[in-house]
Amino acid sequence: MRHLDLVRGPATRFGAKTAVVEGDRRVTFAELDDRVGRLGAALRARGLAPGDRVALLAANELEYLEIQAACLRSGFALVPLNTRLAQRELGFILSDSAPALLIAGRGEEERAAGTGIPHLLSLGAPRGIPSYDAALADAIPDSGADPGDAELPATILYTSGTTGSPKGAVVDRLGFTARVMINAVEMEVRAGDVHQASLPMFHIAAFLSYAHTAVGATLVMLPEFAPERALDTLARERVTTTVLVPTIIALLLESPLIDQVDLSALRLIVYGGSSIEPGPLRRALARFGCGFHQQYGMTETGGQTILRPGDHDPADTVRLASAGTEAIGLEVRVVGDGDKPVAQGEVGEIVCRGPSVMRRYWNRPEATAAALRGGWMHTGDLGYRDEGGYLHITDRRNDMIITGGENVYPREVEAVLSEHPGIAEVAVVGAPDPVWGQVVTAVVVGDAHFDGELTAWARERLAGYKVPRRWIRAESLPRNVTGKVLKHRLRAMLSG
Ligand code: ATP
Ligand code: MG
Repeated sequence: MRHLDLVRGPATRFGAKTAVVEGDRRVTFAELDDRVGRLGAALRARGLAPGDRVALLAANELEYLEIQAACLRSGFALVPLNTRLAQRELGFILSDSAPALLIAGRGEEERAAGTGIPHLLSLGAPRGIPSYDAALADAIPDSGADPGDAELPATILYTSGTTGSPKGAVVDRLGFTARVMINAVEMEVRAGDVHQASLPMFHIAAFLSYAHTAVGATLVMLPEFAPERALDTLARERVTTTVLVPTIIALLLESPLIDQVDLSALRLIVYGGSSIEPGPLRRALARFGCGFHQQYGMTETGGQTILRPGDHDPADTVRLASAGTEAIGLEVRVVGDGDKPVAQGEVGEIVCRGPSVMRRYWNRPEATAAALRGGWMHTGDLGYRDEGGYLHITDRRNDMIITGGENVYPREVEAVLSEHPGIAEVAVVGAPDPVWGQVVTAVVVGDAHFDGELTAWARERLAGYKVPRRWIRAESLPRNVTGKVLKHRLRAMLSG
């Protein structure tokens, strides 16, 4: 198999149809195909060759899709940059990926210029940076000097950096094609669908968007997430599918607008990225009344397992708390010592293999060899299969606490503690201890009293060894830009 061209097929079949919408801006598939050809030609005219990286620092703008499509067609690797990163963090990713070109989104011109990358293009007002639109206007579109190599990187996606420095996961053209096809099949995407990109396109959720484009469906870009705007656009564009993370689902449910907008076109909400408790999930199911589809995945793999709409029975708490079963084309195992599969019900590391898995980490041969040993991607996540064969994620391996020889999964303790009315946010970590090895420590945001009442409350709901021995109050929890708690920082604080 060669690789996918995101827009050529749909442009032939649905040329006059709207391919992408962003606010008042719209582009048809025929226009998109032309722009993709022009961009590829413009970049080659600027000296870019297959294998070169193109970095993009932009919100969800109309051009996002055509830039990825042009990279795919011409053999460049797109490096999508997280717009919420600090300049120093951007600097790390740019020096690691060494792009031949950096494209700046609207409002990002100054930050782009500050990176020191010499070759820049600007999507908005140029401000001294060459204009992207002018570059396109000058170019003569061609079908692309396609080098045809399916193993050229299509994109390098940097991980969230929850456990350390972000790593660049190389997704080659074949892997890109697989991710698109898996999502198109699993979401049952049709040309009549309208997908709202509610999450940033620098996130792996972008593959849900690409799956829609490849099939000829319409993409609605949401440049900035605000609950009112998201709901309003869902209704106005008669959106049929969208993607959300658990914290955003909670925000939407709290918005007063949710009772006023017409969401009758919406057929599917995809969610994932972290676990969601059955309680809030049930409320979301009742309120939205559409299909729900959870993905358990990571930057390195795309989605590995899926909890599909038919699995979202509000009465089945066990299944609702699971992460589902294999995505089509993926193999997932739970392994223990020596990478041997463990028995059903036993906790082990989740590993997976399949066509969507990254080829390697960029510039990190040792990390690659460790992560992909034996041909399986080692996720670093712990989990088990329930009796029905559904996968449950217990925690990240590095976050597990061993206290007096007992294993404690912080997620379980956090889930119990977060039900306490005096606790707004909580993170549970292991603190070094000369007697127990580690002691379970709860870092709490909220006004709960530490007078033994919390301990009693936890003791009623958890085995004794899981009850926190230390309680620490904090103003807030350290989080990365995707909202995940940085536990390595908390651990460093506790041992320092
Ligand atoms: P880094 O690898 O840099 O430390 P990260 O692992 O947070 O950062 P991502 O690739 O964005 O970067 O996140 C993948 C992780 O998110 C998974 O390994 C898993 O721990 C968690 N995760 C994703 N989806 C789910 C889900 N549906 N349920 C529970 N956890 C999930
Ligand atoms: Mg990770």
